[in-house]
Amino acid sequence: MLDLLRSLAARAYIAARRRPRVTVITLHRVGGSSRIQPAHVERCFRFLATYFKVIHPSELASTQNERRTAVVTIDDGHADAYRHIFPIARTIGIPISLCIPTDFFFRRQWLWFDKTIWAMLHARSAATVCGLRVDPQDPGSFATLRRHLKRCPPGARDETIIELLHNLKLDTPLSPPDDYRAVSTSELREMLSSGLVEIVGHTVTHTIATVLDEESFEDELRQSNEEWESFCGRPPVSFCYPNGNPGDFDQRTEMTVRRAGYRYAFTQVEGTNPVLRMNPLEMKRVHIHWRPGVCDKVASGLVDIQNLVCSSGPNGPA
Ligand SMILES: [Zn+2]
Repeated sequence: MLDLLRSLAARAYIAARRRPRVTVITLHRVGGSSRIQPAHVERCFRFLATYFKVIHPSELASTQNERRTAVVTIDDGHADAYRHIFPIARTIGIPISLCIPTDFFFRRQWLWFDKTIWAMLHARSAATVCGLRVDPQDPGSFATLRRHLKRCPPGARDETIIELLHNLKLDTPLSPPDDYRAVSTSELREMLSSGLVEIVGHTVTHTIATVLDEESFEDELRQSNEEWESFCGRPPVSFCYPNGNPGDFDQRTEMTVRRAGYRYAFTQVEGTNPVLRMNPLEMKRVHIHWRPGVCDKVASGLVDIQNLVCSSGPNGPA
């Protein structure tokens, strides 16, 4: 009942709202053990198709007078995007954008955080690394380690993961197994040729921008742009900050992103974007949610009012 009320309130808010606003939806993993299943995605996409003009980031400049614009971003480019999201997008006719680190796609490397999840699921005993005790019976201990690793430069982070695997007596497969792999080259080519999919830059190694020094961050953006240009024929016009929470980007990284040629950058800060007041290089996003009413609430922009009222409100959807 509460969820239905949320949904009705969201629809009323959408109808009443006048000022142009851009909603950027975020999706990560879909299907399998993820809380978000294809049916949730379909429900959300149908809601967007009903109430919004859904576009690619490269079309954002043309939304000045559009009351309701939406962009769908899918973080990291796991094969889920092809298996579970693309078929729905194609059926409904919704453009989607994939944010893919180039080491993951072009060199078939593991995403570093996936390696720690794989380790947790395969470990038979606890171990200590970096002074932190990780126990496969306690997923929170691995989450603590991941929070620590997020703040490490790539070299130190990768060494710690090697140590973790050694201490857990595990050998990860050289390339990510099916559950952890990126979309394949042929899958991505098929998606791009449909005209429904656009690439968003997401660095090379998926390291938080503010963890890297300026030169390293610039190198990651340059390499990522060159690789996508050689694959797609043009570099991406938009960028998605790895992790993207406050502190994961700042004025310095914004200038670097601008110099790299990006016109838009997506963060993980929750909210929607009033066109007249938004900073295109710090765009807010909202997560898709398995509860339809929550999904409608965040997409409608009603969540902005809630976050304003409850300044100590949740970082993620309720
Ligand atoms: Zn990401």
